[in-house]
Amino acid sequence: MSAAKANGTVKERAELALNDEFLRKAVKFTTERLRLGKKNASADHGNWDEWRERGRQIRLHTIAHLDYYLNLFADNARANGVHVHFADTGEEAVKIALQIAENKSAKSVVKSKSMVTEELHLNHALEGIGVEAVETDLGEYIIQLAGETPSHIIIPAIHKNRHQIAELLSKEAGETLPPDTSILAGFVRKKLREKFLEADIGMTGCNFAIAETGSMVLFENEGNARMVSTVPKTQITLMGMERIIPSWTDLEVMATLLPRSATGQKLTVYMSGITGPRRSKDADGPEEMHIIIVDNGRSLQLGDPEFQELLNCIRCGACLNACPVYRHIGGHAYGGTYSGPIGAVLTPALKKNVAEWDDIANASSLCGACYEACPVKIPLHDMLVSLRRRKVEAGHDNRMETIGMKGFAALAGDSLRMKTALKLGKLGQKLVARDGGIRIKIGPLKGWNTYRVTPTLPKQSFREQWGTLEAEIRSGLQEMDPAVKSRMEAIVKQRGKGGHGHG
Ligand code: SF4
Repeated sequence: MSAAKANGTVKERAELALNDEFLRKAVKFTTERLRLGKKNASADHGNWDEWRERGRQIRLHTIAHLDYYLNLFADNARANGVHVHFADTGEEAVKIALQIAENKSAKSVVKSKSMVTEELHLNHALEGIGVEAVETDLGEYIIQLAGETPSHIIIPAIHKNRHQIAELLSKEAGETLPPDTSILAGFVRKKLREKFLEADIGMTGCNFAIAETGSMVLFENEGNARMVSTVPKTQITLMGMERIIPSWTDLEVMATLLPRSATGQKLTVYMSGITGPRRSKDADGPEEMHIIIVDNGRSLQLGDPEFQELLNCIRCGACLNACPVYRHIGGHAYGGTYSGPIGAVLTPALKKNVAEWDDIANASSLCGACYEACPVKIPLHDMLVSLRRRKVEAGHDNRMETIGMKGFAALAGDSLRMKTALKLGKLGQKLVARDGGIRIKIGPLKGWNTYRVTPTLPKQSFREQWGTLEAEIRSGLQEMDPAVKSRMEAIVKQRGKGGHGHG
């Protein structure tokens, strides 16, 4: 989906994605592969659930003491010769980065993958002051050429197949390149080498920041982040304020959880730990290093019992691959930098003003697959329900839905009304039911019946069937296990006294 098509409501964007055969096939293919990889890697680990809990405890502890660990990290990083900057807002973070670029009279910046810089639209801002920003992660490079935004946290170009990628790279090469992955990767490698050598500044994200030594750690598979952080004379690292972990010992847990959850790898191919700029005896590395620690709405979650755990996220993308909604519509339909279940929670949560939330929290079936997949056990499905509730409480509800729910509550709360409504429903459905289903696409049935068939009301409701069912249960009790039998007898007795029943 192009940036131009990315406007509109979530529903409209999802509609576009559902009608894009290429996108659906490409997203399905890669998410299946990643899910299977994660399943095998976690099974192979042997103690996966125990390590998930360890990971969760580390994140819970760190975020509960975030002020302490952030200060410890900043003090240690400064002692290592790093310039540490704190930015309350996205605008402030961009301003700091641009100021550094101007001070260095930079003409070009090479970047490794960083979701925070996507969140801040930093490339656009750099271009605004005449600085060329070049993405060097293969997926990011592809979507930069396409003029798009990432549609997955880990695999930014997940929505493109190799034929579409070959077409894009051919334009850049000025000749037709075959849809052969090694030829395409070879072309990009050669092209980027020149950019690395020319660049004035290297810009990176940060997977983890180690408080005890003031170091930052990068995980990657292509080696480009290592080039970005060693070749240019100046390095700027942008990190969300929650990227902190206390120690290198904690990194061992994260280095086990993150690659396995993200791509099914036991270890990432390159893991770089950077503790300050180049020292006199170092063979390479930047002469000057800046770390910009970005809040941009993150601190709103601190102290919020329903959302503080959101800051535990290690951006592995496993919840995207597990989500049945994401696997059908891909990332652009979510409309923000972050997609999938984490995006559906994070995008609104980072904004204080509820009026700015769109209906993104509704893009979930609440099945809980995201929680099962999450290596640090974030209850995203509960958070989605809380977001929906907060939106309604703030007066941004869907009028028709509220009226419908109130109407249903009035019927379901009174057996006589329910009975009458079912009778009328059975009569009314005779006008529209065909072959055991209702297919008309008008009014509230339009959306549902576009893809499914509404089943008709059965001849007898559960309440009407209860007399027969009760007799069947009683006769079945003769052959039952004594424990089950006594429980069933208690239920039947309770029913006889007029206890809770189903309509
Ligand atoms: S919420 Fe959990 S599964 Fe999703 S990206 Fe964050 S850490 Fe990974």
